[in-house]
Amino acid sequence: MAVFATFFGKLSRYLTAESVSKTLHAHVGTVPNPLSKRSKQLKPRIHDAKMFKSVCPYCAVGCGQRVYVKDGKVIDIEGDNDSPISGGCLCPKGSASYQLDINKRRVTTVKYRAPYATDWEEKPLAWAMERIAQKLYATREATFRETNENGKPINNTVAIGSLGGATLDNEENYLITKFFHSLGMVCIENQARI
Ligand code: SF4
Repeated sequence: MAVFATFFGKLSRYLTAESVSKTLHAHVGTVPNPLSKRSKQLKPRIHDAKMFKSVCPYCAVGCGQRVYVKDGKVIDIEGDNDSPISGGCLCPKGSASYQLDINKRRVTTVKYRAPYATDWEEKPLAWAMERIAQKLYATREATFRETNENGKPINNTVAIGSLGGATLDNEENYLITKFFHSLGMVCIENQARI
């Protein structure tokens, strides 16, 4: 036992965490890693992609993501090791975020049902944005109150509300809060808070 203790004691002086890690990566057991010539030259497909840090769009946990973009297209989405929330992990839903963006069945239009109509119409997103802006403006003009019944300044409207969802990130929520409060809206709510 004393011999072993001396041996391992001496050995530990030469071993560092880095050298152990290098050895483990380069070996299978005690045999050097049997990488073929071709394998040695292979590179990950994200090696020349640009990486953008983002937040998983699905739920309020807000796990960090790394989005890899090449030639203007998302080619991969992975967990972000630097995220203090998730430390590089993503749940099965977050791991599948790529297919939310790159998916030929992705919905790119909006459904619109006109007042008193029974059928839905397919409309472009730009059309919907324009209509929302017009309705927002008209409703605010019609319902904005500068003072309450006692003459106290209130400068608000309770006729317009905003309900956000978990797919909104910090930056979007910041802009929503700033913009809607500046319009005098007070009914601003979000399903998830990060
Ligand atoms: S990876 Fe999963 S747990 Fe994390 S934010 Fe996305 S959906 Fe939520």
